[in-house]
Amino acid sequence: MSDQQFDVIVIGAGPAGYVAAIRAAQLGLKTACVDDFTGKDGKQALGGTCLNVGCIPSKALLDSSRQFWNISHNFPVHGISVEGAKVDLGTFIGRKDKIVKQFTGGIGQLFKANKVTAFYGKGKLLKGNQVEVTGKDGSKQTLSATNVILASGSVPIELPFAKFDGKAIVDNAGALDFTEVPKRLGVIGAGVIGLELGSVWKRMGADVTVLEALPDFLGAADADVAKIALKEFTKQGLAIKLGAKVSKAEVKKDGVHLTYSDKDGEQQLVVDKLLVAVGRRAYTDGLLAADTGVKLDERGRIVVDEHNHTGVDGVWAIGDAVRGPMLAHKGSEEGVAVAEWIAGKAGHINLDTVPWVIYTEPEIAWAGKTEKQLKDEGVPYKIGTFPFAAIGRAVAMNEAIGQVKMLAHAETDRILGVHMVGPGVSELIAECVVAMEFKGSSEDLARIVHAHPTLSEAVHEAALSVDKRAIHKGN
Ligand code: FAD
Ligand code: NAD
Repeated sequence: MSDQQFDVIVIGAGPAGYVAAIRAAQLGLKTACVDDFTGKDGKQALGGTCLNVGCIPSKALLDSSRQFWNISHNFPVHGISVEGAKVDLGTFIGRKDKIVKQFTGGIGQLFKANKVTAFYGKGKLLKGNQVEVTGKDGSKQTLSATNVILASGSVPIELPFAKFDGKAIVDNAGALDFTEVPKRLGVIGAGVIGLELGSVWKRMGADVTVLEALPDFLGAADADVAKIALKEFTKQGLAIKLGAKVSKAEVKKDGVHLTYSDKDGEQQLVVDKLLVAVGRRAYTDGLLAADTGVKLDERGRIVVDEHNHTGVDGVWAIGDAVRGPMLAHKGSEEGVAVAEWIAGKAGHINLDTVPWVIYTEPEIAWAGKTEKQLKDEGVPYKIGTFPFAAIGRAVAMNEAIGQVKMLAHAETDRILGVHMVGPGVSELIAECVVAMEFKGSSEDLARIVHAHPTLSEAVHEAALSVDKRAIHKGN
């Protein structure tokens, strides 16, 4: 096999693509991965959106800002006082950059260890499973493979009246790199990015106003979870305006002048920075030659079947570029499954149990169906809930906010959905996902010993509560 000929070529080295490449190489397939992301140092940075400008840097800033917030908002409860706490923004952003570099560099090392060949440039699928790679200097080379996996990810949706300028009007990447804390931050979109990055800058001292077009808060989450979360975020000082339709954003000397309408009519808001976070779109610009036969759906996503196959011999697609939730772990699991299918093994991916986590304070996490979905589908269900206010560990941590809500089938008791808002729920959801993947019942979780005192007792008690036998609350 020539050095331009591979068993598998992956286009895109985000969490979908790099994981697919590593798994394919583990299975003995000669693998290449083509990616064009350039890091802050001007060099190739593997890891895609997630590692460079998504999951990892946002969690780094969420953690730093949380430490700062705790000094004034939580320490006093414990009898600890700190005078004159300040943040050095250079160190704050620099720590995040160091973490990004560590992880993007780590992918390079994993590629070397697994003998994945990395190409730096723009990959384009040509007919006959060839991939043209255009380097940053414009040079071109053509690779070929038996199988090509498209993992080109997604990019932020731009609003026509509020185009990103990287200065006053920014996307997620811009909001991860402010050089000073904006006095007034406007956010369009009360979705995952708006809430996470809005929380970061609120904790750092910005006045944050979030404008959400829809009348309901966090429509994708369970209504009870959304209600509790909205109350807590409002208490923290995030000004969340629902049913707010923005029509204009003008950059002037004194800030970005926003015009929006809500139930009370037309409103004006002036902010120093504007984060637009109204969703992401699959990114396939320049990815496909006209005659490849790969199809896009009405939302621009690459069309695939339940095995992530595009219908074109040897061409697969995974991650944010295809249907399903735009989550790193969903893309990674698709990557593993596709590599295994290519190698003739039994790959597996179950989109019904992909967990969602929003890393706000309190955290939000869920898996499976919401109560509304079950009602709409006419599925009979039972509900168990348990508040963190009755969990000793949560009270000891001074974080006794929120609840666990479990939905189980009324007849079979199979767990259909679990919805949480509260401390540490990003970790607690894993237990529920395992139970759901094993087709477990609420009784299964109710009969499992959970350590005391831990936050996981909220899951245990919610499972008991499904059958009206929670111990530490009235049923
Ligand atoms: P991407 O990560 O977008 O990677 C695609 C890669 O392909 C990029 O490097 C791109 O440059 C490259 N590429 C595209 N086209 C070509 C081409 N033609 N040639 C060469 N290279 C190409 N998800 C979570 O699960 N948890 C989180 O906490 C989380 N936090 C997030 C926070 C933010 C601020 C954002 C923006 C997203 C977050 N996400 C999170 C979503 C997560 O980042 C995405 O779901 C994930 O990155 C998708 O992975 P992917 O591999 O499909 O695509
Ligand atoms: P989102 O879909 O989560 O939220 C977008 C919000 O903007 C929605 O509430 C929508 O109603 C609102 N909106 C849309 N158009 C609007 C307009 N013109 N004016 C006002 N509001 C408008 O999208 P996002 O926050 O941009 O994040 C994109 C995706 O990235 C997420 O859906 C998720 O898949 C992924 N992500 C995941 C995590 C995580 O897992 N913790 C974190 C960040 C991002």
